[in-house]
Amino acid sequence: GLACRAQTVERDFVRTALPPRKIDGHKGTFGKVLIVGGAVGYTGAPWLTAAAAARSGCGLVFLGVPEAIWPVEAAKCVSAMPFPLPDKHGKLSPKAKEEILKRAAGCDAVALGPGLGRGDGVTELVLELLREIRQPVVLDADGINALAGHMDVLDARQDRVTVLTPHDGEFARIGGDLSAGDRLGAARAFTEAHGCVLVLKGHRTITAVPSGNALVNTTGNSGLAKGGSGDVLTGVIASLLAQGASPVQAAAGGVWLHGRAGDLAAERLTAYGMTPEDVVSALPAAIGEVQ
Ligand code: AMP
Ligand code: MG
Repeated sequence: GLACRAQTVERDFVRTALPPRKIDGHKGTFGKVLIVGGAVGYTGAPWLTAAAAARSGCGLVFLGVPEAIWPVEAAKCVSAMPFPLPDKHGKLSPKAKEEILKRAAGCDAVALGPGLGRGDGVTELVLELLREIRQPVVLDADGINALAGHMDVLDARQDRVTVLTPHDGEFARIGGDLSAGDRLGAARAFTEAHGCVLVLKGHRTITAVPSGNALVNTTGNSGLAKGGSGDVLTGVIASLLAQGASPVQAAAGGVWLHGRAGDLAAERLTAYGMTPEDVVSALPAAIGEVQ
């Protein structure tokens, strides 16, 4: 039955997720990513997402962050373009909405959530953005937390692409039910109910799509169990989406590449010593294995 039909993500599949590089392509050809995240106290997360997107093939990376941390991001980011957004108490304010919508309209994919922090203003902003952004959205971290209790906003996006990348805690907050210990069943039930793509992270990450299909990942290791690893994954998936990969290719392919980069980093540095930055640095080698 359906319950046994879970395939693993294979290299040949990941190869199809990497859009070809047109030899005469320019930076506009390969897609533009907008990343929105960050808060005082969370300056690393949006930067990791931006760095991972830039290491995964897209042509341009824009990074919208609270004005309070913008100088930090500007100093850190070389391959992405950070810009300041209206903030309050170090977090994005709902006043940031218009600028983000304008930027999103000019991009091919949007990543929302890494390091956003929590609060009423952040929740209001995230919900408004989900309602209005037409582009494919990767929703992660505090972007997912903002959705808790407002699942109607996700359901209203069924005419658009939304990829959710929760770990178990975030998945529970948006109604995911892991009580039976059946991760595959829980992931499938969630995507069927909400019509989105779900990346349920952890050891053997599951990518589930509304058709009922689910893919189990085999790459990655415990060296990824460190703050910042998930932010890297979000950047990879958004980058693949911006380049024209399908939602399931971008999600499951991105998960495989991220895990493989983690494995290459662990070979060199051990699972103890590797950091999310090392995973970003290993992305090109992981891509090189399947291109
Ligand atoms: P986050 O919790 O958002 O930082 O995301 C953690 C990332 O690391 C996800 O991509 C997880 O799938 C991955 N990860 C965490 N622990 C493990 C593990 N034990 N084995 C493989 N991947 C892991
Ligand atoms: Mg995370």
